[in-house]
Amino acid sequence: MAKDSGSPVSGQPLGVDELSERLRSRGLRVTGPRLIVYNALAHQGGHRSADEVAVSITAAGPSLPRTSVYNALKALVDAGLIDVVDAGPGTTLYEVRGESHHHFICRQCNALIDVPSDSTVDGSLLSEVPGATVESAQVILRGLCPECTQRSKARAKSG
Ligand SMILES: [Zn+2]
Ligand SMILES: [Zn+2]
Repeated sequence: MAKDSGSPVSGQPLGVDELSERLRSRGLRVTGPRLIVYNALAHQGGHRSADEVAVSITAAGPSLPRTSVYNALKALVDAGLIDVVDAGPGTTLYEVRGESHHHFICRQCNALIDVPSDSTVDGSLLSEVPGATVESAQVILRGLCPECTQRSKARAKSG
């Protein structure tokens, strides 16, 4: 399972009122599971799989059927309240929508680190798609995380 270094660039999670308002404004009903799933994800923070969300809900109280968790996640993505993390193939991970950002994935330990988006990665390096309306850009950066970089340097030194 991927290690998670948290989401330093995530914004504050929404309160129940704001959350209900956002769901309604997208024509989505406010349901118990949707509120529970959003709060579970917001509480856990970082990047989580549907399974991790389901487990944390069960740990906190009445469990939700796995299908309800999946359906609620999908509705929350549709409502723009949470994002699917674009981190390449593997388990689908979700995160509470905050500031737009990119992800760094360590090829050694799979650590997933949020990278604030700035002009050096989006905008300037990306080409236009002629005739298309680009709505978002998520860049995946790959390499060695700080810990693995240290470890490989230490190894190199010792022989
Ligand atoms: Zn690493
Ligand atoms: Zn992220």
